[in-house]
Amino acid sequence: MRTTELLAPTLREIPAEAEVISHQLLLRAGFIRRETAGVYTYLPLAMRVLKKINQIIREEMDRQGGQELLMPIIQPAELWQESGRWDVYGPELFRLKDRHNREFALGPTHEEIITALVRSEVSSYKQLPLLLYQIQNKYRDERRPRFGLLRGREFIMKDLYSFDRDYEGLQISYQKMHEAYTQVFRRCGLRFRPVEADSGAIGGSDTHEFMVLADSGEAVVLFCRKEGCDYAANVEKAAQVIVAAGHGEEPKLLSEVSTPGVHTVEEVSAFLNVTPQKIIKTLLYETEKEVVAVLVRGDREVNEVKLANALGCLHLKLSGADTVRSVTGAQVGFAGPVKLNVKIVADLEAATIVNAVTGANKDDTHLINVSPARDFSIDIVADVRMVQAGEPCPRCGEALIEAKGIEVGQIFKLGDKYSKALGAFYLDESGQSRPVIMGCYGIGVTRTMAAAIEQNNDKDGIIWPAAIAPFQVVVVPISVKEEQQMAAAEDVYNRLIAAGIEALLDDRPERAGVKFKDADLIGYPLRVTIGAKSLGSKQVEVRVRKTGEVLMIPNDELENRIGELLGGL
Ligand code: ATP
Ligand code: MG
Repeated sequence: MRTTELLAPTLREIPAEAEVISHQLLLRAGFIRRETAGVYTYLPLAMRVLKKINQIIREEMDRQGGQELLMPIIQPAELWQESGRWDVYGPELFRLKDRHNREFALGPTHEEIITALVRSEVSSYKQLPLLLYQIQNKYRDERRPRFGLLRGREFIMKDLYSFDRDYEGLQISYQKMHEAYTQVFRRCGLRFRPVEADSGAIGGSDTHEFMVLADSGEAVVLFCRKEGCDYAANVEKAAQVIVAAGHGEEPKLLSEVSTPGVHTVEEVSAFLNVTPQKIIKTLLYETEKEVVAVLVRGDREVNEVKLANALGCLHLKLSGADTVRSVTGAQVGFAGPVKLNVKIVADLEAATIVNAVTGANKDDTHLINVSPARDFSIDIVADVRMVQAGEPCPRCGEALIEAKGIEVGQIFKLGDKYSKALGAFYLDESGQSRPVIMGCYGIGVTRTMAAAIEQNNDKDGIIWPAAIAPFQVVVVPISVKEEQQMAAAEDVYNRLIAAGIEALLDDRPERAGVKFKDADLIGYPLRVTIGAKSLGSKQVEVRVRKTGEVLMIPNDELENRIGELLGGL
């Protein structure tokens, strides 16, 4: 391919609408153009990257026995009503009507369609297991489409669904996908981690998210610092190890103290001269059923995902000042568990504090020497707080490290949720009817492309891992008007192509500086420069984008050496 034939419109300015680096660089380097919020055209350079990611995905899915199919984007509402999701999916589901007023959804995911397919095509245990996948556009009317391809409303996803006879079979399919995903992201050249994630209040099955580590990530992950311990979880899931606080301490006399205008943990700590570890923070939450009080240690934060799981509720929100006043009789900042007439959920750690400081449920007043069991009773004791970096790993006790991540894939055990709802049953060896046991596994293809940029860039532009670069090498003649130079560049270009290396010849009549800038911006892993110097010489100048290193490679070793270099990028 020649640059004069390529549609790769680079921009000099940073587009104002783009907040994150991948979005800025995808626009500037001529990979994408925005059509409307969260909806993009993928230009030829982007298509080349996406095709490579898709190819890697296909190879790894097929290696595990996956079979590719393609399901419709337009999905009838009836199937979504059967699964019960037409009502619960909410405004994220794009809905439309046809000329006969029948309702449809644009597929945000395909559990309904694929379960209906299996319901009609699979009837015997002999047809199982099955791993079926597709690579296709998905539609989600995200509340905040942003960050370019990281959170679009139309995006490309690979989704695979596994169908097994039983949970042992599901475990095998799940392991296969865990392995396949590990290979996909490794082959894409990304630094990533599979992390344990929360599967929601209903369910409780296994799920892992695959996180590309990048500072711009929206997700927070915690992982063990010890070599060889692979514990990693996202912050919603990360489990605490309790180091009991008050064991052995004698409960002292409970008493009330006046604390005028002292609301926050910091203020209470300073005013009463106690450490935050001795303070029990009491927060009121409202669920769809009731108001609950949640107790955590003064220096900890409530984890609302864990809390919802502990309560088995669907919705959860922090109470406003009016509710706090009506439940506790005091303004915000003075709530406490003693004589409080709502359900009390205590975090594992908070439940162990003896002689604690709490609010007194009375304005400008706190209690000291509060001890659980003696002074108040707890309805639920559970892990309901955020774990922080530095806390012990639940597996080996070594300290946890925190990092930011971008979720590029997720694998999930569904069990019989959809097969039961939609009636996908099979007959086992003894002729008994059983629901197929399912799993679902997604990779955001377009998000992976953006995540690769978030992780690999510098002030000059993108630095593509060689495996997914749009072209592996750009050949730049310094002056296309010099016939000899152009001929030498053509020669190098043809030799690289003949050796199976994806090369691009920058044959534009531009200044060399402009071409170098574009090459860095677009991020080809290697640049071969052909100038007046190289003509007489037996060596060719090769620059490595990632390190800026310039190598002089003997002309007759060019293809081999470039092949070797690419292997390490
Ligand atoms: P998120 O929590 O980021 O909204 P999700 O958990 O809803 O994502 P899944 O339903 O697990 O997403 O979808 C599988 C994969 O599809 C995700 O891991 C992600 O890579 C990708 N994906 C999901 N939503 C989007 C989006 N709006 N834009 C681009 N990719 C997305
Ligand atoms: Mg997910």
